[in-house]
Amino acid sequence: MSSLPPTYSDEMNPGPIGEENVLSLTFDDGPSEWTPLVLDLLAEHRAHATFFILGAGIAGGERTLERTLEEGHELGLHSWSHPHLTELSDLEIRDQMRRTQKAIECATGVVAHVWRPPYFKADKRVRRALADSGLVEAGCSIAPEDYHWPAERTAAFVIKRLRPGAIVDLHDGRPSHSGSAPERSATIEALELILEEMKWRDLRSVILSQLSTLEIDAAT
Ligand SMILES: [Zn+2]
Repeated sequence: MSSLPPTYSDEMNPGPIGEENVLSLTFDDGPSEWTPLVLDLLAEHRAHATFFILGAGIAGGERTLERTLEEGHELGLHSWSHPHLTELSDLEIRDQMRRTQKAIECATGVVAHVWRPPYFKADKRVRRALADSGLVEAGCSIAPEDYHWPAERTAAFVIKRLRPGAIVDLHDGRPSHSGSAPERSATIEALELILEEMKWRDLRSVILSQLSTLEIDAAT
């Protein structure tokens, strides 16, 4: 395992993975009031996605998590409170993930096994702290920063880079201490444009665990 963290650069794009036109849409920072709108759109387009959950946001969102799984999507861990993991002790890092994993299990009966560090910030020590946890790290290859931009800009950024094997990072929630836009309607609008383009180009979104590039990405 190399120590290079996942970056936002296009060079990290895992690229074509065979004849299948599959990629993964992923969503961070939920569950939230916007998650059901994301789920509606995904259902309409028969798309599947992976949702990286914040443990602190689960209370009250249990039904949303259940629905997410019922509709064939995947739940992953994004930490409890969206800290910079590199600033925490090993114990605190493990606690961020374990608590979130437990809360998801309590709500749904399912044990999540993929994780994505907040801000994509993980270093050697963070990864070592989680080495025995059985978690698989997920990066991304297209990060439009949808939480800052109007829908058209986010959609154009993603559409320009769409290709088989891509991992797209969008946001269905908002960490409590976030300086990002106060709501996610731009993301919902952008998602619709992206899904329309994918249909046009015969690209299909699958959950990350079904994307064979996950292992490659996780090793970065
Ligand atoms: Zn996040």
